[in-house]
Amino acid sequence: MDKQQALGMIRNIPDFPQKGIQFKDITTLIKDPEGLKWASEEIAKQYKDKAITKVLGIESRGFILGTPIAIEIGAGFVPIRKPGKLPAKVIEQTYQKEYGTDTIEIHEDALSADDVVMIHDDLLATGGTLEAAVKLAKRAGVKKIYVSCIIELEALEGRKQIDKEIEIFSLLKI
Ligand code: AMP
Repeated sequence: MDKQQALGMIRNIPDFPQKGIQFKDITTLIKDPEGLKWASEEIAKQYKDKAITKVLGIESRGFILGTPIAIEIGAGFVPIRKPGKLPAKVIEQTYQKEYGTDTIEIHEDALSADDVVMIHDDLLATGGTLEAAVKLAKRAGVKKIYVSCIIELEALEGRKQIDKEIEIFSLLKI
């Protein structure tokens, strides 16, 4: 498996969930055993020597590869969830979307000052979601933050939204 093959396994759905959006569907990549293994191993490889203590997966597609990556690099897994889903006390972060706002939450006691975290989501579009997750991790007071995604939509320049000091790894660029 290489990047070209993996790109060929991502399905484009025009006008989903609304008109004008070219939705990049990763289910066609991850239903393939080779695709699933390759994508999680390729991302994990980048973090082998970075002493990551926790992978933070963003609900819900960030959970899919976030967990095998965490196992592969010997880190724990922490979910970043939509409002009202986490049972204990949370820190929340609201961010701007194209239309309106959105909020994400993390358990208040999920992270500590010793943590080196890698935040993972399936896709980087405008960057609002990942930047909000970075803010959550910063507010939790972690030592260092990395960001990764399977797909980066380069034309949207989402990485510019994310703190310049943070290293971002995208497996596939479209
Ligand atoms: P953004 O905050 O604009 O970077 O959007 C990223 C989030 O929205 C990720 O959780 C993605 O799963 C989802 N998303 C945004 N645009 C797309 C797209 N074109 N195809 C698939 N998912 C998308």
